[in-house]
Amino acid sequence: MAQPGGKTSFFDEGFSSFESLLVENGFEKYRARQVWQSVYERKIFDVSAMTSLPAGLRAFLADRFEFVSGRRAGGSRSADDTGKFLFELSDGRYVECVILEAPDEDGGIRKTLCMSTQVGCAQGCRFCASTMRGFKRNLTCAEILSQALSFADPSTGKFSFENIVVMGMGEPLANFDNVMRALKILNDADKFNFGARRITLSTCGLADKILQLAHSDFPFRLAVSLHGATNDVRGQIMPVNRRFPLEKLVPAIEEFSKNCGRMTTLEFILIEGVNDTPGQARALAKIAKRLHAHVNLIPYNSVGGLQWRRSPLKNRLAFAKILKDLKVSCTLRREKGSDIDAACGQLALKTAQERGAGESR
Ligand code: SAH
Repeated sequence: MAQPGGKTSFFDEGFSSFESLLVENGFEKYRARQVWQSVYERKIFDVSAMTSLPAGLRAFLADRFEFVSGRRAGGSRSADDTGKFLFELSDGRYVECVILEAPDEDGGIRKTLCMSTQVGCAQGCRFCASTMRGFKRNLTCAEILSQALSFADPSTGKFSFENIVVMGMGEPLANFDNVMRALKILNDADKFNFGARRITLSTCGLADKILQLAHSDFPFRLAVSLHGATNDVRGQIMPVNRRFPLEKLVPAIEEFSKNCGRMTTLEFILIEGVNDTPGQARALAKIAKRLHAHVNLIPYNSVGGLQWRRSPLKNRLAFAKILKDLKVSCTLRREKGSDIDAACGQLALKTAQERGAGESR
C-alpha cells in the first residue's frame, strides 16, 4: 500500500515479488535473502544500519520502502524495559504502548506488549479513558506494526516481549483490515514468525465482526470485554450493548469458539456497586459455562474525571468465589499496570491533559 512520499511499506512485500523487484532493478537475486534476514531475523529497520548490503542497494531500499512509521517518545530507550511508552505518530498525535510483566498460561511471568489500534475510541464505554477525548482516527497497518518493532533489539535479533495483547487505545475490530494485516505480518512464517497463540485481540464486543472472525482465517486468541452479565448492567456502562446486546454477542462468541476450536477469555472489570454483585457473578458464570470461556476478573483503575470506583477487595474475592464454586475457570488479576496508568487510554489521556488540555489531539 502506498505511503506518504510514494513509498510502499516493506512489510507488505512477499518474498518472491521482492526478489523479482531486485532482479528487475539490476541487483543479484541472492540479495533478496540478505535483505530478508536483516529485516526479519536481525530486526534492523534502519536501512543505513544494514551494513552487509552494498550502498547502491541501501539507497534503492531507502528510496522505495517505508519500514517503520512513528517512534517511541519519552520513557526509556532501552529495548527490554518494562513500563509505559508513548508512541508518536507522523502527524504528531500519540498513542500508548505498554510492556507489562504478566503471568503466562504455564504460570511463568512473561513480558507482554500491549498495543493500540486507534487514536481515541468511538465506542464510548463510560468507564474508559480512551473514549474521553473522542475518536480521532484509525492507525495504519504500519503504525500498529511499528509499535511492536520499536521493541526489537538488532544486537540480538529479538523482541523484548513474548506475548502481545491488542488492548491499548482503540477498538481493534473497528479498524479491522489494518489490524488483521499487521497481526498477519507478525505471525507470517516467512516474516516475523511470531506465534499466533501468543497474540490476543481484545474487543468490546462487535458481534458482527466476531462472526466475521469465526469464518475467516484468524489464528489468534480472542478476549471479549464483557463487564456486565445482564443487558441492564452492561447497557449502563457500554453503549455498544445497544447495537449488540448479549443475545447477539454470546451466540457470536459461541460460533467463534466452535469454529476456531479455541477458548475465549471474558474480561470483567469489577466496578464498585455497578457489576460486583453476587447476582452478576451468577449470571456471568452461566455465560462463561455456555461458552467454555475463561474469565479474567480485573480491578477497575479509577480515571480522573470519572465517577467509577474500584470494587473493594472483599467484593472481588466474594465474586471470584461464586465463579469458582460454580466451576468456572477464572483468574482474579492483581492490579496489572495500575501503578503506571497502563489501563486503556489512561496514559495518553494524561499526557494530552498535561500537554495542555483544549488542543484536540
Ligand atoms: N476496545 C478493546 C480493547 C481496548 S481496552 C476492548 O474493549 O476490549 C482493554 C481493556 O481494558 C478492556 O477490557 C477495557 O474494558 C479495559 N479498561 C478500560 N478502562 C479501564 C480502567 N479504567 N480500568 C481497568 N480496565 C479498563
